[in-house]
Order: sequence, then C-alpha cells, then structure tokens
Amino acid sequence: MRNVALSWVCGRAWTVSGLLRVRARAPRAAAFAAAGTLAGLLAACSGAAAPSSAGAPTPAPVTTGPVTTGPVTTGPGDSPSGAPSASATAPARPLAGKVVVIDPGHNGDNWAHPAVINRLVNVITEMKPCDTTGTETNAGYTEAAFNFNVATRLTRLLRAEGATVILTRTSNHGVGPCITQRAAIGNRAHADAAISIHADGGPPGGSGFDVIEPGLIPGHTDVIVTPSHRLALAIRDAYHRITHEPYANYVGHDALDVRTDLGGLNLSTVPKVFIECGNMRNASDAAKLSSPAFRQRIAVALAAGFTAFLAPAGGASTPAAGTSVPAGGASIPGAPSG
Ligand code: ZN
Repeated sequence: MRNVALSWVCGRAWTVSGLLRVRARAPRAAAFAAAGTLAGLLAACSGAAAPSSAGAPTPAPVTTGPVTTGPVTTGPGDSPSGAPSASATAPARPLAGKVVVIDPGHNGDNWAHPAVINRLVNVITEMKPCDTTGTETNAGYTEAAFNFNVATRLTRLLRAEGATVILTRTSNHGVGPCITQRAAIGNRAHADAAISIHADGGPPGGSGFDVIEPGLIPGHTDVIVTPSHRLALAIRDAYHRITHEPYANYVGHDALDVRTDLGGLNLSTVPKVFIECGNMRNASDAAKLSSPAFRQRIAVALAAGFTAFLAPAGGASTPAAGTSVPAGGASIPGAPSG
C-alpha cells in the first residue's frame, strides 16, 4: 500500500500528493487582520484560545468506534433551576426546542489508521471509504482541526441561542466515525437541521466558499431536498454577509452545489448541508482559515444561518446576535474532554 495522502474533498480528490504526513506545526496566524464592522464579535473572540488548536494537540485516547454523543443542554444561557434569571440582559433564545447536529468533517487521527477509514461503505449511489483524512494548508494546519474548531465555536453559539446541539465527534484525536454513522447520528436525533463542516482542498488558484446540498435520489432523499435547499440558502447568505468570503470561483454556482455522491447527505433523513468554508490550498483563504478570529466569524455566520432557517420569525439572527456570546470564551460549555 503506497503511503499516499489524498487531498480529499468530501469525496472529490482535487489533487493527489505523496506528502508524508509530517505534521508541521501551524503557526499562529497573526497576520490576518479581520476587517469589517463586527467589533463586538471580534471582542468576543479575542483572547479565546482555540479550543483545538492545530499546533498543540494533547494526548487523548483514540476513538475507534462511533462517538458517544448525546444532547447536552447546559449552555451559557442556562440558569440554574430556581436561580433568578437576568431577564433584562439574557440573550434571546430563538432556538429553544430545536435540535442541531454538527458534523466536523474527518478526524485528527484518520491519517494514522488507513485500514479503518478505507473500509468501503454503502452511500446508496456508490461504495466509498468510511472516512477520509481531509486536506491541510501548506503550513500544515489540518482540515480536521479546522473543522472541529469551527464546530466547537458554533456549538457554543447555538447553545447560547437555546438549541440542543449534538456533535458527531467530540475530539480531534480520534478516528472516524464513518460517514454513514455521521448521517445516522443526525437521523437518530431527529435533528431539525444538520451541517457537515469542511474546508476544501481545491486548486491553489481557486478561492471562496461553497455550500453543498443533497440531490434527489428517489426513495431516499425525497423529503430532505427541499428543506435542505432552504437551509443551504440561509447558510450561504449568512456566510457571505458576515464573513465576506466570496462565492467559490472554481466549484458550484453562486456558492451552491448539488451532489448525490456524499454519504452524509444521501443517508440523511433530516435537512442537511455541507459547507466548504474556503480553500485551504489557496494562500489567501488559508491565511483566513488559520485565523482564530476568522473562525469565530465563521461560527457566528453559521449560527446566523441556522437561526434564519429554524426561527425566521424569532429575530436575533443578525450578526449582532453573535455579540451576545459571553466575552472571553475561556471555555466552551459542553466542549469535548477527549
Ligand atoms: Zn473535508
């Protein structure tokens, strides 16, 4: 078996490289200065250590099976039973009662377990590997770490809005789960909406983001195609408005793509999209994706998209909603402990 690392993009291999999996330590991206008007947002994330920084993995048990997950209802907005509620300042909770499943694509140790992730699974339209390694920036910041970091930030924001959030993996130091199981987690939870978070490994000259929605597979995706399209529009619009990331110029159309080759979509029974937050193989996008401040902005954008989809009349879906996140962000409620 050749030690070949696929720059695998949600099932699409843009490039194949023979890179050894030498894990270059990703530098702190201090160069990227986020522009824009979300001063409160940036304040909220300043000083927030990346929950899963690429450069400082801590030893943790390898998760080889399906990640045990469950609804975690304790969020920063929750007040202890009987405790006085600071109603005057409490953030709106437009997502109370809603269940969101977040799938951080790939996993940090997938690369070391090819036998596990290369096992073929049935995604209806084809047989494909259980999971893939994902891509990385030239500096060695892995997509798996990026995905998990954004997912953790998004989890915090959605829980602050009252949602029950379930993650398909709770650390970046494990293997899998298989794409089939990632879909099943959302199905079992009867999620109101689900997202699989990725960053692309596209051509170096390409940049921008892309939202992927399920195509029609008669007998399988019939009921999710329409709501997933609405979710895709909500996520795309919020992402573009808040991150200012352009629509991808090398894939999709208007930052939308319809696919029937992704197990995470084909096997979903709940509204679901994938997002490629940017192109890690593009220098400009890589600089942004490597910035904790930009990742926080991404999380705010995704949260706004979910709120627009799940509670369109609930308001509080503007970027300003992100400012209700407790400042400092020292810890993330419900954050995986390994
Ligand atoms: Zn990916």
